[in-house]
Amino acid sequence: MQNVMRDAVGRMGGAPPTEPDPQAMAAHVAAGGSPYDLIEPSAWFSYSSLDTFERCPRQYAFRYLCRLPAEQARPAADFGSAAHGAFEAFTRERRERLARGEPPPSRADLGRFFESAWARTSLSVEADAETWRRRAEPMLDQFWAAESAKPVGSDERAETLGEELRFRLHLPLDPATLVTVSGFIDRIDRLASGAVELIDYKTGHAGPPEEAESSLQLSIYALACRDTLGLGRPERVTLYFVEHGARFSAGRTDAALDTVRTGLATRARQIRGSDFVPTPSPRSCGWCDFAAMCPMNVSEWSRSAVVSCSSAAVRQAGRRLALRFSSPGRRRGRAGPAHRGGSWRRRRPGCPRGRRR
Ligand code: SF4
Repeated sequence: MQNVMRDAVGRMGGAPPTEPDPQAMAAHVAAGGSPYDLIEPSAWFSYSSLDTFERCPRQYAFRYLCRLPAEQARPAADFGSAAHGAFEAFTRERRERLARGEPPPSRADLGRFFESAWARTSLSVEADAETWRRRAEPMLDQFWAAESAKPVGSDERAETLGEELRFRLHLPLDPATLVTVSGFIDRIDRLASGAVELIDYKTGHAGPPEEAESSLQLSIYALACRDTLGLGRPERVTLYFVEHGARFSAGRTDAALDTVRTGLATRARQIRGSDFVPTPSPRSCGWCDFAAMCPMNVSEWSRSAVVSCSSAAVRQAGRRLALRFSSPGRRRGRAGPAHRGGSWRRRRPGCPRGRRR
């Protein structure tokens, strides 16, 4: 089954967008141009990028068009990466061991998988690492209890088909333009009915149960499952809040998925035609990786209820961008490696969310 899924992924084709040349961009911006002048409209989207655009189009441009590396450490995201890595390793190991007729991995194995994933995050060397490590143990206990409650292969127990499965969903916008929505599905289980369940792990607070009904992320995964992975429409899609042991599931009809497909094309057209006017708010700016370089950040927003997107503002952000890219100190230090292998890096094996170390 795994091979079938891998083949399905391979057939999907497509290529990620090329990265802008930071030196060319710096020179252009230093001459007074806008960084957006050198950037082609994106033909490559993900749920995260769509969500970022909804939050603030300028933040989207900084992250997905200018490809600026994130400044702030994100301990919660690193914790989530380590958890995803542990669960992925656990279910994969279990499937492979069972195929060889061996006993499934133990709770101690799960702990080791977490340690291994943890070591690949920046948290492993930070001062508050112990706080996060203590938070991990109850979560692993919860996961272990749920996974070991019923024997794998029993009528009541789903069989895990794959983890972190990449998909590429191709959407024609017009006869000459094809865009791609890509992503990774955390886990796909085969249910007793023969249909599949798509599972998205979540760390942190559990959302309301209705979130499984309304989640665009789950709808995109279900659409990919039906239209590109060859697994049919999933029987259910599930948000699995692993720290609380809560699983909220919902179904998706074919008609609903068709509507999602149309909606994705509409969003892609909107983004490709956007001038990335910022939409600052305390919530968006407070979590924005680019607030320090954005002239529209929340502190300025608080002085004015209406913020206009002037070309001067874009240029001001661009000049800061140019400084960042052209500073010899930055090239020797963090910025250089980050461009080659940090935030611009594609997802690496064993690093589920592509977070920086
Ligand atoms: S600081 Fe605020 S306005 Fe600026 S990009 Fe970030 S979210 Fe948007």
